[in-house]
Amino acid sequence: MNLSYAPTTIAAIATAPGRGGIGVIRISGRELLPFALAISGGKTPKPRTATYTDFFAADGTAIDNGLLLYFPGPHSFTGEDVIELQGHGGPVVLKMLLARCVALGARLAEPGEFTRRAFLNDKMDLAQAESVVDLIDAASETAARGALKSLKGAFSGEIHAMVEDLITLRMLVEATLDFPEEDIDFLKAADATGKLASIRSQLARVQATARQGAILREGMHVVLVGEPNVGKSSLMNALAGDDVAIVTDIAGTTRDTVREEIIIDDVPVHVIDTAGLRDTDDVVEKIGIERTWAAVERADVALVLVDGREGITPNVEAILARLPERLPRVFVFNKIDLAGEDARVDEEDGHPVVYLSAATHDGVDLLKGKLLELIGYKGEGESVYLARARHLDAIHRAGEHLAVATSEWQQVEIFAEELRLAQNALSEITGEFTPDDLLGVIFSRFCIGK
Ligand code: GDP
Ligand code: ZN
Repeated sequence: MNLSYAPTTIAAIATAPGRGGIGVIRISGRELLPFALAISGGKTPKPRTATYTDFFAADGTAIDNGLLLYFPGPHSFTGEDVIELQGHGGPVVLKMLLARCVALGARLAEPGEFTRRAFLNDKMDLAQAESVVDLIDAASETAARGALKSLKGAFSGEIHAMVEDLITLRMLVEATLDFPEEDIDFLKAADATGKLASIRSQLARVQATARQGAILREGMHVVLVGEPNVGKSSLMNALAGDDVAIVTDIAGTTRDTVREEIIIDDVPVHVIDTAGLRDTDDVVEKIGIERTWAAVERADVALVLVDGREGITPNVEAILARLPERLPRVFVFNKIDLAGEDARVDEEDGHPVVYLSAATHDGVDLLKGKLLELIGYKGEGESVYLARARHLDAIHRAGEHLAVATSEWQQVEIFAEELRLAQNALSEITGEFTPDDLLGVIFSRFCIGK
């Protein structure tokens, strides 16, 4: 067992706050059988089997009754002994149970600490640990399914496979470093560049899937620009469909909100409404608005909504002038039912223009398609595993090192070094980047006598 953390017993309420039919307390630590016996009043729990029991306080009175689950390590979520107490889901009862756990020597767990222990005890790698959170946070069914795929190791498996291939190639390349006069011929004979090319195409494939997975997780950030009454709220509702109701994130002042989130075809779309970005003297609102302008800097697209009968007004022009230059724009000419126009996509000055009616929904699908196209979402949700921006960044860096390796392969020392850096970048994803381990693997694969 990896003990790079203090093996104290930790406890936490594992169910969501509030009242529920049941509430669960989770406890992890070493040697928890005495702990279980103290809670159950001496009833010995059978491993991985539900034990129906009272949960006792120190003075022998019952706090609650319910199910006690006992998972002796290492066959548990964290790899340590784990106990779950399933009691009644009231905040007072759960607090009393948690206090009892603390009295028995547990301390309150920090956020994510159970999963961190699972990672430290090799129950899962880093990408899998991250997907636990992503599954819980999933914004759509497709995202949830993708997170489960990552949790079960689909993504990590792809990374591992590439890392294995890189290690094999590195062994080949590093072996030639001892024989500088023959190295190029040796690498040619061993088809080192062919092997490298195949790793690169593997990486490109994984990058494409991970990018889709990251879109499902991170979603798209849209800045909404439009005058009052042009149909912003109507359009948000039309885009959201009946999938999920609009979730209002931050209430602005009286009428308009600053941020909303909708789901378009499984992709979470975070909308910042510039109508809420007014000048204000309210200190709290000011802070919120500053934060929102900062979010505008990181947005993916500006959605400029106008009444099709009026076109772009000077007010809208003024807001557009404040937006970052690099931000792609999609213009929406709304209320075509009143203007007597057809739904269509057009282009002006290189920006797409969508003619639609938020009221009749005519043309709304055209806009959805345009937005998803802009962010690069392909809707192949079923085959996607969830990924994060951190993973994409690591994959990107690995790709750059492999590109250098490809062009510099005849300089064997550079070749070897770039392969090493590419492997390190990929290993950041699974959290295994530890050079000592790597050396161990390389040596263990050398033939006898070498
Ligand atoms: P917002 O102030 O920009 O959020 O605009 P709303 O979505 O509240 O819409 C303002 C008014 O315009 C409401 O009465 C809507 O019903 C109406 N409206 C919005 N879109 C359309 C449309 O495409 N066609 C028609 N006929 N009315 C619309
Ligand atoms: Zn509105």
